[in-house]
Amino acid sequence: RVHCLRSRNAVFYVNSFAARTNTCGELRAAHIGQEVTLCGWIQYQRQGLFLVLRDFQGLTQIIIPQDEAHSHVRKLLSNAPVESVVRVTGIVSSRPPGQENLKMPTGDIEVKVETAEVLNFCKKLPFEIKDFIKKSEALRMQYRYLDLRSSQLQHNLRLRSQVVMRMREYLCNHHGFVDVETPTLFKRTPGGAKEFLVPSREVGKFYSLPQSPQQFKQLLMIGGLDRYFQVARCYRDEGSRPDRQPEFTQIDIEMSFVDQAGIQRLIEGLLQYSWPEERGPITTPFPSMTYEEALADYGTDKPDTRFGMKIMDISDTLRRLDIGFVQNVLSYPHSTAKAICIPRGVVKGSTDMNIFFLLILPDGSLKSLLTKFLSEEQQSELIQALNMQVDDVVLLAAGDHKRCSALGSLRLESADLLEAAGMVLRDPAALHFLWVVDFPLFLPKEENPSELESAHHPFTAPHPSDTNLLYSDPTKVRSQHYDLVLNGSEIGGGSIRIHNAEQQRFVLEKVLKEDSEVLSHLLEALEFGAPPHGGIALGLDRLISLIVGSPSIRDVIAFPKSFRGRDLMGNAPDYVTPEELEPYHIHVSWPAAETEAKKN
Ligand code: ASP
Repeated sequence: RVHCLRSRNAVFYVNSFAARTNTCGELRAAHIGQEVTLCGWIQYQRQGLFLVLRDFQGLTQIIIPQDEAHSHVRKLLSNAPVESVVRVTGIVSSRPPGQENLKMPTGDIEVKVETAEVLNFCKKLPFEIKDFIKKSEALRMQYRYLDLRSSQLQHNLRLRSQVVMRMREYLCNHHGFVDVETPTLFKRTPGGAKEFLVPSREVGKFYSLPQSPQQFKQLLMIGGLDRYFQVARCYRDEGSRPDRQPEFTQIDIEMSFVDQAGIQRLIEGLLQYSWPEERGPITTPFPSMTYEEALADYGTDKPDTRFGMKIMDISDTLRRLDIGFVQNVLSYPHSTAKAICIPRGVVKGSTDMNIFFLLILPDGSLKSLLTKFLSEEQQSELIQALNMQVDDVVLLAAGDHKRCSALGSLRLESADLLEAAGMVLRDPAALHFLWVVDFPLFLPKEENPSELESAHHPFTAPHPSDTNLLYSDPTKVRSQHYDLVLNGSEIGGGSIRIHNAEQQRFVLEKVLKEDSEVLSHLLEALEFGAPPHGGIALGLDRLISLIVGSPSIRDVIAFPKSFRGRDLMGNAPDYVTPEELEPYHIHVSWPAAETEAKKN
């Protein structure tokens, strides 16, 4: 009678401690003749004759008895609306010949009800739970607990739980990692994402919600924990986007006495061990690419290597062709001309004035704004340099070498367009893991390029062969920072850390021009025998969404926030009264428009 589910080596009992004997997904021909008790939601109800009961594991057909002795049961079940929750007890019977449902795992049997109880009625639903019914995302979010009943979300959350369990097993049981919880009420960490503030009762003082447990995990290494891991909630006040949430989860890892390769092999082993069977095996080690190569060939530091259409540098060819304004652009320092060739291109206009289109026509001639500047010979030289075939479209960008990122985005947009037009570019089953390495330690700040910011975070160590440059030309220093990319999405990043207090102080004060006082505790800790250490964090939400093939991380989070960072179900954030703010010494000054809005 005891039913257990099997997942890899794990066996678990799904009916223990519950008022049922079986789940709705469990009964087979072998159970025929048994008396069972099921609990579940009414998925369908047909004319008082039968209903389909659903729980997390599946569907079972329930036959409502039509004889007088059971009239009470019939009345009860016929009157219960869809999505009411019921408990039924009855006998498992074989379906009449010809009425088996091959599409249903329980399709050989039905349960003939003896007794039934409506545990709770369901009022009129805001939307039907059935998977094929389309509903707006706002409505799904407002009634998230109903949306959670869908088979998609059930599957995603259960798979997520299993992956995390396997990760714990691998890290803690196989490799001696220690699961440590770190505070969420802390203070500002300089040089990173914008943090949420939490008021405190001390006048003018605020906590910050950490954007990651970065400082704590390093302090744990200094504390001799040696190998730390946490399923860590992180907070970034950056608004929601399809793949971002103000609060999200990282698999956060730190190790002492390790180098870059050590962390990479650990993560490859971790992913291999926890990878769900349904997505097929993964091959390790993952390939590596330098940051420079990634930018040059793909125009991004997270290349989607599932398809070609790489960026080509054609500066030399174009320099030889005598087109005045192109020459002019190319004469500036750091100027290049780059191109991508889109097979049978379907790309429509672009607003970027520095991007030219070249189309090669079936007669082999070139169609482009540029052709009038080129002799026939020069045209064929260009066609050859670009290796163009009939119907190909080439996008050509000339200017500052940063234009690469524009071509990188166009490469991805073109791939989407080609696929929308029916071309198969990316195999949906393909898994392209890629380490991106040798990032620069610092990048010019976007808003003020004369100042530097950390490419990863201020605790990242310089590449051992570039350490001296740190003091002479910090812009040239490569770092020991590595990112893990899967199918063009960044799913993790980490680094070997600075464990020398003096070097850390130099980076903070002299290079980043940060107030090192905010980090005096960490700087001091580094002076008390800090071991060399490094780590990484995997973005769990994004990883799971890639595994289940969902476009948004909201589909793998039980209670996500909306685009604008709101909880549409509970309506958070919400107003608080002036009395509630008093202990925090906070007074809200209302802009007139907001006061009006609040009144309405
Ligand atoms: N704390 C880093 C991050 O959140 C990851 C790391 O360096 O381990 O990106």
